[in-house]
This record gives sequence, structure tokens and C-alpha cells, in this order.
Amino acid sequence: MAIAIYPGSFDPITNGHIDIVRRARKLFPKLYIAVVANPHKSPTFTVEERVEITKTALIEAGINGLEVISYDGLLIDCAREHGADAIVRGLRANSDFEYEFQMALTNRDLAPEFESVFFMTAKKYSFLSSSTVKEICMYGGDVSTFVPRSVEAALKKKLQTKK
Ligand code: ADP
Repeated sequence: MAIAIYPGSFDPITNGHIDIVRRARKLFPKLYIAVVANPHKSPTFTVEERVEITKTALIEAGINGLEVISYDGLLIDCAREHGADAIVRGLRANSDFEYEFQMALTNRDLAPEFESVFFMTAKKYSFLSSSTVKEICMYGGDVSTFVPRSVEAALKKKLQTKK
């Protein structure tokens, strides 16, 4: 049984991420969603908040059989700890490619036992990112087509009370 790990900032999770999770679940009976504690981007939500928001959003999306975890440090160490075979990532427009390519090759140098697997974005989510959603929400725009309701509520609470 192949085990996969889908790492990311998930700051917060969007429908684009959820689409990748839904499709990855079909190939990998065991899938970990791994929220990175200290991404280089300084996150809007704490790691604990991101884990909670992600768990709730995936329940809302009706996707079962997942485990949401967090990690600090090297992804490959987390992947080893959880007995993963594959690392799942999503690819949007061209801009993702360079970064993902570099990460995948670096991870292969460090840990050749893991295969990086890429899922092409759905057309309707190809320009969707957590940062876009946050920007729209901060200025009072409607993000209901981009994130589940629970995420929308968390975003409003965090960003609209901050102003
Ligand atoms: P990171 O900071 O590790 O890139 P993100 O949460 O931004 O974390 O993204 C995690 C993964 O999900 C990345 O592989 C990214 O390309 C992918 N991803 C993010 N948004 C989308 C989307 N709309 N469609 C497909 N893949 C996406």
C-alpha cells in the first residue's frame, strides 16, 4: 500500500489544494497532509491554526482517510518518520515549475527512496493561491468560491478584525 505525504504551508488551505488532495487520495490509500511549521514565507496563521483549519476544511469537503500533521525541519525526515513512499505536490502555471523542479531534485539527492509525484491543477484553480485569497478577503471581497465556508470564516476572523 503506497503511502504519500502532501507538504505545504496551507496558509490557509484553498479549493485548489483540496482538489489535489481529492485526486491524490484515489492513488494513495494513505495520505498525510503535512503542514510546515516554519515556512520561509511568514505565515498569517500559526501552525496550530493551519492544522485545525485544514482538518475542518477536509471534513467539510467530505474527504476521509487522511491525517493532518505538522512538521518542522526537513520534509524528508518527516516523510521517513511516517513511512511515506511518495511526496505529492501540485503544479499551477509556469511559475511553480522552477521551484518544484529544484525541490524535487534536491529531495531526490537527499533521499532517493521517495518519488515526487505532481498533480496538474484543475483549470478553474490554476491561478488560485492562499495569498490571493488572503488579499481578496482583507479588502472585503467574496472568497466563497475559492475556499470552504469554514476557511472563509477563519480568514474573516483573522484578517478583517486585524484592520
Ligand atoms: P508551499 O509554501 O510549500 O508552496 P503551498 O500551501 O503554497 O505551500 O502549496 C503547497 C502545494 O500545493 C504546492 O505544490 C503548490 O504548488 C500546490 N498548490 C497550491 N495551490 C494550488 C492550486 N490552486 N492548484 C494546484 N496546486 C496548488
